[in-house]
Amino acid sequence: MKRIGLIGGMSWESSTTYYQAINREIRRRLGGLHSAECILFSLDFHEIESYQTSGEWGKAAAKLVTAARYLESAGADFIILCTNTMHRCAEEISSSIAIPFLHIAEATADSILEKGLKKVALLGTSYTMEQTFYTSVLKDKRLHVMVPDELERKTLNDIIFKELCVGNIKEKSRVFLLELISKLNRDGAEGVILGCTEIGLLLHEHDIDIPLFDTTIIHATKAVELSLRKD
Ligand code: GLU
Repeated sequence: MKRIGLIGGMSWESSTTYYQAINREIRRRLGGLHSAECILFSLDFHEIESYQTSGEWGKAAAKLVTAARYLESAGADFIILCTNTMHRCAEEISSSIAIPFLHIAEATADSILEKGLKKVALLGTSYTMEQTFYTSVLKDKRLHVMVPDELERKTLNDIIFKELCVGNIKEKSRVFLLELISKLNRDGAEGVILGCTEIGLLLHEHDIDIPLFDTTIIHATKAVELSLRKD
């Protein structure tokens, strides 16, 4: 089993989901008392979020690079970054370590392509939906990406930072998301990417009738695949 290095804490609410999902998948595949060999470096999200808000992505990247190097020197065989948004710094991280970096958007795109879908809606933070660092990875894989309109993006961003990242699960927000997904589906989306690692706290596959791609679960599952791959 290869050792998984996780950069987490963004927010820790979703890092707990990663930890559970990775261990459940290991148990599902190996049975018995098997569990994952992994190392978590959990950052203070208050600091990272303030760099996001001020646009100081270089400072945020420096923190993530330090975490990745720690994990590498602690014996991690590869790295996963447990947030979609901070993949804005993916290149800085992957170029600063000698071990592989498993990109969340690439893993997600592969799983969408496996299902034969072409047009998907992307839900996430404003950074993820509006900047190009994430959508470009999906588009490079020939996916057509739709995002909500401006007001909906702002509402969703507020739900993520003011509610989900502090563990506040509200029915009103769940209803907002369900209505948003129905609208995007009517506008042509064949599936929906939960492109924020906390949205899965609010919404599950059985809640909607179009394919749902929860990036946390996809990323965690791909990490287990890589961990168990014989090469
Ligand atoms: N975890 C979230 C994501 O997947 C949002 C928190 C962050 O800004 O990192 O994008």
